[in-house]
Amino acid sequence: MVNVGVVASRLLNLPARMTRDNGERIADNLCMDLRDELALLRDLGYTHLDYIAPVAAGTSAAAPERRAEPGSTSMPTSTADSRRAESPERRSTRTTPRAEGNDMLLAELGKVAAVCQNCRLAGTRTNVVYGVGNPNADLMFIGEAPGRDEDLKGEPFVGRAGQLLTDIIKAMQLTREQVYIANVIKCRPPENRNPESDELDACRPYIRRQVELIQPRVIVTLGRFALVGLTEKVYGITSVRGHWLEYEGVKLMPTYHPAYLLRTPSAKKEVWADMKKVMAELGIS
Ligand code: URA
Repeated sequence: MVNVGVVASRLLNLPARMTRDNGERIADNLCMDLRDELALLRDLGYTHLDYIAPVAAGTSAAAPERRAEPGSTSMPTSTADSRRAESPERRSTRTTPRAEGNDMLLAELGKVAAVCQNCRLAGTRTNVVYGVGNPNADLMFIGEAPGRDEDLKGEPFVGRAGQLLTDIIKAMQLTREQVYIANVIKCRPPENRNPESDELDACRPYIRRQVELIQPRVIVTLGRFALVGLTEKVYGITSVRGHWLEYEGVKLMPTYHPAYLLRTPSAKKEVWADMKKVMAELGIS
C-alpha cells in the first residue's frame, strides 16, 4: 500500500470523539500530508495508484480491493512514499511532530526507490543504494553516488572513501548508526562516471524527501555533486566549503568528498575544520 494508505490509516485510527478545534487541526494536517504524498509520487513519474482499502484498527475483514485499470502505470502495491519539501508557510503551521511515522515513511520510500526505473542507471545497477542510519538523526551526510562496493552491497559509503567517512564520523564522537548517510544518486553510474544532470533531476525527489522525513539539524554535503544535486544551485566547492548554507531551513555545511581526501590528504585538515563547526552547532565538544 502506498503512503497515501499510511495517511488514510491515520485517518481511520483517529479517536471517535474529538473537539471541533482538534478535529479540524488533525484533518488539516492529514489533507496536507495526502496532497504532499500525491505530489511526490507525481514527481517520481507515477500516473495511477493501485487502491487497497486500509483496515481500521480493530477491524478484522479487509474491504474489497479496487485496482487500477489494466494498462495503467500503477504503483507497485507493496510500495511507496512521499511528501514534497515543506514550504516555509507549511513548516511553521505544521503541528504533527517529526517522529510520527517518519521511520515507516522512510522505509516505504526505500521500497519505491528499490524498483525505480526513472533513469538509465536502473539498467546497469546491481542494487539501489537508498540510505542507512537513524531516521531521527540530527546529522545527515549526503554524498554523490554509489561506487562499485556500494552497488554490490546496497549500502552507501562502504568502500575506501566510506571507510574514511566512517573515521571522520568516529572522530566527531558519533557512530554511523547515530547519523544518516545517503547519496543524491541512488544507483551507480557506470565506471563511476559523474552523474548526468537528468539523472540528478530524476533522483532528486528521493533525497529531498529523505531530508524532509529525517529533519536533521545539520546536513553535510560531500563534494560538489552532492551540494548541487540536493540544492539545484551552482556552487564552486572550493569557495563554498566550510561556509554555512541553508537548505529548506536546515543548516548545511558543504565540505570535500572523502574520495578527494584519498587523493589529496593535505585537504583533510580543511574537512576537519568544517566538521568542528558542525560539532559546535550540534553541541558536541
Ligand atoms: N561516494 C559517494 O559519493 N557515495 C558513496 O556511497 C560511495 C562513494
